[in-house]
Amino acid sequence: MWEETEQLKRQLPLLEYLRGRNWSLRPTGSRQEFVGLCPLHAETRPSFYVNASKNLFFCHGCGRGGDLIRFAQLYFDLPFHQAVALLRQELGLVPPSESAVLEAAARFYQSQLHRYPEALAYLHQRGLKDPEVIHRLGIGYAAGGNLRRHLTSLGFSPQLLCQVGLVDRQGRDTFYRRLVFPCRDENHIQNLYGRSTGPAPAHRFLARPKGGLYAWETVSVFPTVILVEGLFDLAVLWQAGFSNATCAWGAHLTSGQFAQLSDRLNRQVFLVFDSDANQAGQQSAQVLAQRLRRAGLTARLVELPPGHDPNSYFAAGATAADFAHCLEQAQKSSQP
Ligand SMILES: [Zn+2]
Repeated sequence: MWEETEQLKRQLPLLEYLRGRNWSLRPTGSRQEFVGLCPLHAETRPSFYVNASKNLFFCHGCGRGGDLIRFAQLYFDLPFHQAVALLRQELGLVPPSESAVLEAAARFYQSQLHRYPEALAYLHQRGLKDPEVIHRLGIGYAAGGNLRRHLTSLGFSPQLLCQVGLVDRQGRDTFYRRLVFPCRDENHIQNLYGRSTGPAPAHRFLARPKGGLYAWETVSVFPTVILVEGLFDLAVLWQAGFSNATCAWGAHLTSGQFAQLSDRLNRQVFLVFDSDANQAGQQSAQVLAQRLRRAGLTARLVELPPGHDPNSYFAAGATAADFAHCLEQAQKSSQP
């Protein structure tokens, strides 16, 4: 347990966590120390101090202090174990047994992809053709009805399969006729995304947290990142050479994902969300851009030709140069 909580605190530094909750802070003069209004009690003069190198807080107003977990306990009024569980969930950390069965499921689906021509045909139709990228993203295919037998033959218990959401209580596979993308962060699979190739509802995840931003450990090294909504958007961007693209599986970021995105202040973020008819994607992009700017980042809204998301744009024949041009336009037109 001790090692787990230490890992949690390393992966979700207190300062980033507070920033993700829009805590406004200023440096105190010593490089590692920040002060702001206390989130734990009402006050008008800042007395809540965070030491970033020690990863600890102390409030001179209410006299309380401690680490990230102590903060979550006080803030949400939770016992220790529940506070840890909540933070783990925000960060999308997975217990080792769950991680292992998700890996095995993803490998199985991956091994099935080339056995089903309709699966590859679907990928091609969505503009995804490069075998190297398909492999790198770990894309697989769930025909349905064959996962449970395979995983139990490897020694995974039916209870565990049900617990992670791969099968339902009756033991039926969750995914039928779906392209499957493992949602990875920090090298662990947090969830699986299944895109229907048939008449079933298009999007489905396992009933569990989706985790942090996609492949953040490789994307976070770039000073400029591109944030998209969906995995097919991400896939065509990676295929076109934009390896600095990441995705949050939707237009709304969890606080853990926001903390990741704002983990360095001079980062530039291009937001390329869907331009759907009801403007929902564009509106959430604007709200997110404002939050990122308040957190000290440069955020730019990218406009694609009307009616397009990144996936449909590339599937319709756009080139890397076309997309780069859209990024340049965003850089020129939007305020930083
Ligand atoms: Zn206080």
